[in-house]
Amino acid sequence: MPVLDALVAALRLSSIEVIDLTAPLSADTPVIKLPEPFGNTIPLSLQEISRYDDRGPGWYWNNITTGEHTGTHFDAPVHWVTGREGLDVAQVPASQLIAPAVVLDFSAEAAADPDFLLEIDHIKKWEGEHGSLPEGGWMLYRTGWDVRSGSQEQFLNANETGPHTPGVSVECARWLAGHAPIMGFGTETVGTDAGTAHSFDPPFPCHSMLLGAGKYGLTQLQNLARLPATGAVVIAGPLPIVGGSGSPCRALALVERS
Ligand code: MN
Repeated sequence: MPVLDALVAALRLSSIEVIDLTAPLSADTPVIKLPEPFGNTIPLSLQEISRYDDRGPGWYWNNITTGEHTGTHFDAPVHWVTGREGLDVAQVPASQLIAPAVVLDFSAEAAADPDFLLEIDHIKKWEGEHGSLPEGGWMLYRTGWDVRSGSQEQFLNANETGPHTPGVSVECARWLAGHAPIMGFGTETVGTDAGTAHSFDPPFPCHSMLLGAGKYGLTQLQNLARLPATGAVVIAGPLPIVGGSGSPCRALALVERS
Protein backbone atom coordinates (compact mmCIF):
# COMPACT_ATOMS: atom_id res chain seq x y z
CA MET A 1 0.00 0.00 0.00
CA PRO A 2 1.32 3.49 -0.81
CA VAL A 3 2.57 5.19 2.34
CA LEU A 4 -0.03 7.97 2.31
CA ASP A 5 -2.89 5.49 1.82
CA ALA A 6 -1.53 3.50 4.76
CA LEU A 7 -1.36 6.69 6.83
CA VAL A 8 -4.96 7.63 6.04
CA ALA A 9 -6.13 4.09 6.86
CA ALA A 10 -4.22 4.11 10.14
CA LEU A 11 -5.69 7.48 11.10
CA ARG A 12 -9.18 6.17 10.34
CA LEU A 13 -8.58 3.07 12.47
CA SER A 14 -6.89 5.15 15.20
CA SER A 15 -3.84 2.92 15.04
CA ILE A 16 -2.20 6.29 14.48
CA GLU A 17 -3.54 8.75 17.02
CA VAL A 18 -3.45 12.52 16.56
CA ILE A 19 -2.57 14.29 19.81
CA ASP A 20 -3.06 18.03 20.04
CA LEU A 21 -0.04 19.67 21.68
CA THR A 22 -1.59 23.14 21.37
CA ALA A 23 -2.92 25.32 24.18
CA PRO A 24 -6.35 26.85 23.48
CA LEU A 25 -5.77 30.44 22.36
CA SER A 26 -7.86 33.02 24.21
CA ALA A 27 -7.54 36.29 26.09
CA ASP A 28 -6.68 34.17 29.14
CA THR A 29 -3.78 32.28 27.55
CA PRO A 30 -0.69 33.09 29.67
CA VAL A 31 1.91 35.40 28.13
CA ILE A 32 5.46 36.16 29.21
CA LYS A 33 5.92 39.29 31.36
CA LEU A 34 9.24 41.12 31.11
CA PRO A 35 10.28 43.68 33.75
CA GLU A 36 10.75 47.40 33.05
CA PRO A 37 12.14 48.86 30.84
CA PHE A 38 11.48 46.08 28.30
CA GLY A 39 8.54 46.01 25.93
CA ASN A 40 5.91 43.35 26.41
CA THR A 41 3.75 41.18 24.21
CA ILE A 42 -0.02 41.31 24.44
CA PRO A 43 -2.55 38.54 24.93
CA LEU A 44 -4.98 37.56 22.20
CA SER A 45 -7.99 39.77 21.68
CA LEU A 46 -10.89 39.50 19.27
CA GLN A 47 -12.64 42.45 17.71
CA GLU A 48 -15.95 41.46 16.23
CA ILE A 49 -16.47 42.59 12.63
CA SER A 50 -20.01 41.22 12.31
CA ARG A 51 -22.14 38.50 13.81
CA TYR A 52 -25.22 37.82 11.67
CA ASP A 53 -26.27 41.43 12.13
CA ASP A 54 -26.41 44.74 10.26
CA ARG A 55 -22.65 44.64 9.78
CA GLY A 56 -22.93 41.31 8.04
CA PRO A 57 -26.29 39.55 8.19
CA GLY A 58 -25.12 36.14 7.04
CA TRP A 59 -21.68 35.89 8.57
CA TYR A 60 -19.59 36.04 11.74
CA TRP A 61 -15.92 37.05 11.85
CA ASN A 62 -13.33 38.80 14.02
CA ASN A 63 -10.14 40.74 13.69
CA ILE A 64 -7.47 39.22 15.88
CA THR A 65 -4.77 41.09 17.76
CA THR A 66 -1.91 39.31 19.49
CA GLY A 67 1.84 38.94 19.73
CA GLU A 68 3.88 36.54 17.63
CA HIS A 69 4.91 34.79 20.85
CA THR A 70 1.48 34.22 22.41
CA GLY A 71 0.33 30.76 23.46
CA THR A 72 1.73 27.66 21.80
CA HIS A 73 4.16 29.19 19.34
CA PHE A 74 7.19 28.75 17.13
CA ASP A 75 10.43 30.74 17.62
CA ALA A 76 12.32 31.44 14.40
CA PRO A 77 16.11 32.06 14.48
CA VAL A 78 15.66 35.77 13.77
CA HIS A 79 13.83 36.13 17.11
CA TRP A 80 17.18 36.48 18.88
CA VAL A 81 20.02 38.90 18.18
CA THR A 82 22.39 35.95 17.80
CA GLY A 83 20.18 34.69 14.94
CA ARG A 84 19.52 38.04 13.30
CA GLU A 85 21.04 36.84 10.02
CA GLY A 86 18.99 33.64 10.19
CA LEU A 87 15.56 32.64 8.96
CA ASP A 88 12.38 34.50 9.74
CA VAL A 89 9.30 32.44 10.46
CA ALA A 90 8.04 32.60 6.86
CA GLN A 91 11.40 31.29 5.60
CA VAL A 92 11.37 28.08 7.64
CA PRO A 93 11.13 25.33 5.01
CA ALA A 94 7.75 23.60 5.02
CA SER A 95 9.54 20.24 4.93
CA GLN A 96 10.88 20.98 8.44
CA LEU A 97 7.39 21.53 9.84
CA ILE A 98 6.88 17.77 9.95
CA ALA A 99 9.61 16.06 11.93
CA PRO A 100 10.33 13.23 14.38
CA ALA A 101 10.18 14.07 18.07
CA VAL A 102 11.42 12.58 21.31
CA VAL A 103 10.16 13.40 24.79
CA LEU A 104 12.43 13.67 27.82
CA ASP A 105 10.34 13.50 30.97
CA PHE A 106 11.61 15.51 33.92
CA SER A 107 8.20 16.27 35.41
CA ALA A 108 9.10 14.67 38.75
CA GLU A 109 12.26 16.78 39.03
CA ALA A 110 10.37 19.97 38.09
CA ALA A 111 7.64 19.19 40.64
CA ALA A 112 10.30 18.90 43.33
CA ASP A 113 12.17 22.02 42.17
CA PRO A 114 10.56 24.62 39.88
CA ASP A 115 14.05 25.94 39.07
CA PHE A 116 15.19 22.50 37.86
CA LEU A 117 17.73 22.70 35.03
CA LEU A 118 18.36 20.04 32.44
CA GLU A 119 22.04 19.09 32.16
CA ILE A 120 24.04 17.31 29.45
CA ASP A 121 24.36 14.26 31.73
CA HIS A 122 20.56 13.96 31.94
CA ILE A 123 20.39 13.79 28.15
CA LYS A 124 23.30 11.34 27.93
CA LYS A 125 21.55 9.06 30.43
CA TRP A 126 18.30 9.32 28.45
CA GLU A 127 20.20 8.48 25.24
CA GLY A 128 21.64 5.43 26.97
CA GLU A 129 18.11 4.13 27.49
CA HIS A 130 16.34 5.35 24.34
CA GLY A 131 18.99 5.98 21.69
CA SER A 132 20.35 9.16 20.15
CA LEU A 133 18.36 12.36 19.80
CA PRO A 134 16.70 12.46 16.37
CA GLU A 135 18.63 13.90 13.45
CA GLY A 136 16.66 16.91 12.19
CA GLY A 137 13.95 16.37 14.79
CA TRP A 138 12.52 17.95 17.91
CA MET A 139 13.65 17.35 21.45
CA LEU A 140 10.58 17.98 23.62
CA TYR A 141 11.16 18.64 27.30
CA ARG A 142 8.35 17.47 29.54
CA THR A 143 8.15 19.20 32.93
CA GLY A 144 4.46 18.84 33.79
CA TRP A 145 4.14 22.62 33.46
CA ASP A 146 1.19 22.35 31.09
CA VAL A 147 -1.19 21.63 33.97
CA ARG A 148 -0.57 25.21 35.14
CA SER A 149 -1.46 26.80 31.81
CA GLY A 150 -4.98 27.75 32.88
CA SER A 151 -3.56 30.41 35.21
CA GLN A 152 -1.11 33.16 34.27
CA GLU A 153 0.03 33.33 37.91
CA GLN A 154 0.71 29.61 38.31
CA PHE A 155 2.20 29.36 34.83
CA LEU A 156 4.76 32.16 35.34
CA ASN A 157 5.25 31.22 39.02
CA ALA A 158 6.89 34.54 39.85
CA ASN A 159 7.82 35.97 43.22
CA GLU A 160 9.89 39.01 44.24
CA THR A 161 12.98 37.39 42.64
CA GLY A 162 11.26 36.83 39.29
CA PRO A 163 9.76 33.80 37.57
CA HIS A 164 10.57 30.24 38.68
CA THR A 165 10.03 27.70 35.93
CA PRO A 166 12.19 24.77 34.79
CA GLY A 167 14.69 25.09 31.98
CA VAL A 168 18.12 24.17 30.69
CA SER A 169 21.61 24.96 32.01
CA VAL A 170 24.02 27.10 30.01
CA GLU A 171 26.31 24.13 29.30
CA CYS A 172 23.39 22.00 28.17
CA ALA A 173 22.01 24.76 25.90
CA ARG A 174 25.47 25.11 24.35
CA TRP A 175 25.57 21.36 23.71
CA LEU A 176 22.06 21.30 22.24
CA ALA A 177 22.97 24.17 19.91
CA GLY A 178 26.40 22.99 18.86
CA HIS A 179 26.48 19.21 19.16
CA ALA A 180 23.01 17.68 19.31
CA PRO A 181 21.59 16.64 15.91
CA ILE A 182 18.18 18.18 16.67
CA MET A 183 16.45 20.81 14.53
CA GLY A 184 14.64 22.36 17.49
CA PHE A 185 13.76 22.29 21.14
CA GLY A 186 10.25 22.34 22.61
CA THR A 187 8.98 23.09 26.11
CA GLU A 188 5.74 23.31 28.09
CA THR A 189 6.74 26.61 29.75
CA VAL A 190 6.21 30.17 28.48
CA GLY A 191 9.55 30.13 26.68
CA THR A 192 12.40 27.74 25.95
CA ASP A 193 14.51 29.14 28.79
CA ALA A 194 14.24 28.72 32.55
CA GLY A 195 12.40 31.38 34.54
CA THR A 196 15.70 32.38 36.16
CA ALA A 197 17.62 32.47 32.85
CA HIS A 198 17.73 36.29 32.85
CA SER A 199 20.53 35.89 35.43
CA PHE A 200 22.53 33.25 33.49
CA ASP A 201 25.77 33.94 31.63
CA PRO A 202 24.85 34.38 28.85
CA PRO A 203 21.26 35.27 29.68
CA PHE A 204 18.54 33.14 28.04
CA PRO A 205 21.03 30.54 26.75
CA CYS A 206 18.49 28.44 24.83
CA HIS A 207 17.30 31.46 22.90
CA SER A 208 20.80 32.79 22.47
CA MET A 209 22.55 29.58 21.45
CA LEU A 210 19.89 27.50 19.69
CA LEU A 211 18.40 30.33 17.65
CA GLY A 212 21.96 31.58 17.01
CA ALA A 213 22.73 28.13 15.59
CA GLY A 214 19.73 28.33 13.24
CA LYS A 215 17.62 25.96 15.34
CA TYR A 216 13.98 26.49 16.29
CA GLY A 217 11.94 26.80 19.47
CA LEU A 218 8.46 25.51 20.26
CA THR A 219 6.82 26.60 23.50
CA GLN A 220 3.73 26.28 25.68
CA LEU A 221 3.16 22.74 24.46
CA GLN A 222 0.54 20.56 26.12
CA ASN A 223 -0.13 16.83 26.39
CA LEU A 224 3.50 15.72 26.14
CA ALA A 225 2.55 13.15 28.79
CA ARG A 226 0.57 11.36 26.10
CA LEU A 227 3.57 10.92 23.82
CA PRO A 228 6.03 8.03 23.84
CA ALA A 229 9.68 8.75 24.60
CA THR A 230 10.50 8.05 20.96
CA GLY A 231 8.58 7.46 17.75
CA ALA A 232 6.18 10.43 17.54
CA VAL A 233 6.02 12.73 14.53
CA VAL A 234 5.26 16.40 15.18
CA ILE A 235 3.52 18.73 12.77
CA ALA A 236 4.17 22.31 13.88
CA GLY A 237 2.49 24.93 11.72
CA PRO A 238 3.39 28.56 12.37
CA LEU A 239 1.78 31.22 10.17
CA PRO A 240 4.19 32.39 7.46
CA ILE A 241 4.34 35.97 8.76
CA VAL A 242 6.74 37.61 6.30
CA GLY A 243 9.71 38.91 8.27
CA GLY A 244 8.15 37.63 11.49
CA SER A 245 10.14 36.39 14.49
CA GLY A 246 7.69 33.63 15.34
CA SER A 247 4.02 32.77 15.27
CA PRO A 248 1.33 31.11 17.27
CA CYS A 249 1.14 27.63 15.82
CA ARG A 250 -0.95 24.50 15.86
CA ALA A 251 1.27 21.66 17.04
CA LEU A 252 0.04 18.13 16.47
CA ALA A 253 1.71 14.80 17.18
CA LEU A 254 1.12 11.55 15.32
CA VAL A 255 1.59 8.54 17.58
CA GLU A 256 1.41 4.90 16.51
CA ARG A 257 -0.62 2.68 18.83
CA SER A 258 0.01 -1.04 18.79
MN1 MN B 1 8.93 32.80 21.84
